[in-house]
Amino acid sequence: MSMINSLSFENRFADLGESFFAPMQARPLPNARLVTFSREAAKLLDLDPAWLNTQEAVQIFAGHQVPDKASPLSMVYAGHQFGGYSAQLGDGRGILLGQVRNQKGELWDIHTKGSGKTPFSRFGDGRAVLRSCIREYLASEALYHLGIPTTRALLILESSEPVQREKLENAALLVRLAKSHVRFGSFEYFAHTNQPEELKKLADYCLEVHFPDLKEAEQPYDALLLRIAAETGSMIARWQAFGFAHGVMNTDNMSVLGETFDYGPYGFMEGFNPDYICNHSDEWGRYAFNQQPSIGFWNLRALAYALKDLLSGEMTEQVLEAYQTRFFEEYDRLMNKKLGLKVMMEGDRQLMGDLLPLLQKHVIDYSIFFRKLCEFTQSDDESALYVKPEHQAEFRDWVETYKTRLAQENSVDEDRSAEMKAANPKYILRNYLAQQAIEKAEAGDASEVEKLIEILSNPYDEQPEHEAYAAEPPEWGKKLEISCSS
Ligand code: AMP
Ligand code: MG
Repeated sequence: MSMINSLSFENRFADLGESFFAPMQARPLPNARLVTFSREAAKLLDLDPAWLNTQEAVQIFAGHQVPDKASPLSMVYAGHQFGGYSAQLGDGRGILLGQVRNQKGELWDIHTKGSGKTPFSRFGDGRAVLRSCIREYLASEALYHLGIPTTRALLILESSEPVQREKLENAALLVRLAKSHVRFGSFEYFAHTNQPEELKKLADYCLEVHFPDLKEAEQPYDALLLRIAAETGSMIARWQAFGFAHGVMNTDNMSVLGETFDYGPYGFMEGFNPDYICNHSDEWGRYAFNQQPSIGFWNLRALAYALKDLLSGEMTEQVLEAYQTRFFEEYDRLMNKKLGLKVMMEGDRQLMGDLLPLLQKHVIDYSIFFRKLCEFTQSDDESALYVKPEHQAEFRDWVETYKTRLAQENSVDEDRSAEMKAANPKYILRNYLAQQAIEKAEAGDASEVEKLIEILSNPYDEQPEHEAYAAEPPEWGKKLEISCSS
């Protein structure tokens, strides 16, 4: 029996019925070969990682064979894309192969991205390319290890099928694992097509499968919306604290679980710039780094509007409250940890608020600055900061205030240093690192992808042998432009 058939498939989404998806067989990828796979993600499914390296596994994920207990389908959804409503989206190149309950009792979606045309493909070819699969693969694992909620990635296949993007590329495929593929846009689809029963069924599915603790609430749908708002707030707070920009916060890319979802032209901020736009196609900066918190709320309003007939009344204020409260709880907590502060005191926001404009003014690398700050002692002055000597004087007042604040909680340098290192990553997924790994993989060598995964799986550790990966990007790496093309 095939290893995959030994898994406990529990295809809950397929049970919803065909208003929610199109049953779908993958269009097989010719001459598929395994590029790389994640041992850690394999464990989430209780899969023996060695099996992923077999021809049988490749054949299954490439779509030549359907596992006996799978129930492959492409989900339907809609969504607001860059502010405009798209009435019909859906998995245009994705297939939910099935859902598997692991030994821990968690239900995981196995989703293949790049499986060929579906009824929702519109103008697309149903395929994905290697560079975009690698980018999603790297980001999911990098964010996960930083402690940011995210979908995961199991493996990447490459094939000989040519696909046209800006240039001719080979079709590739990513196997994504997620606790849910239900998006804000899934609800929008049923609301805007006036299917109230289906809308309710989807909300009930979310309560049953994802938020069973809310089923007994007095107003379960109100509670569902508020929980999604809070989880979204928590996720975006983490993006902001780590300098992560998602790039395409369309409502079809917003998971109801508040997990980072559907990676495209994302980026980690390097030189601090709140206006950072990681997506070259985002001309107006709708999804710029500092817009993310307000876009999160914009998206929640679209969700609330879709759910309105199920709610007890107008809920905008409550949604904002749930979202903001959780956002600031997480953000303040993480920013205080970045500074090595144990207790929250009045003025802490100001302390950070005085520092960030200085980083911005001198375009100082956000991650390196804070990592270096982990070594700061109370007998140091501004010369100990990661700041060019000619700009250090501008940091003098800030350093004095910081030292006073540290003294207020009797901070011990050595202890603080260790705690700060657990909050300020040494290694982040810089675009140029991903680019180097992609170029090597496109030439047939995935070793750099694997090396990055290894480094980024321990982002808070020193890893002296990998010091070069913690450095600022080279000049060419600062100018990389990543677009929506994938
Ligand atoms: P994304 O920007 O990746 O979130 O995709 C937005 C929508 O376009 C989703 O419905 C995707 O399934 C669809 N899509 C993206 N790329 C392709 C493609 N190459 N072929 C078919 N559909 C696609
Ligand atoms: Mg998407």
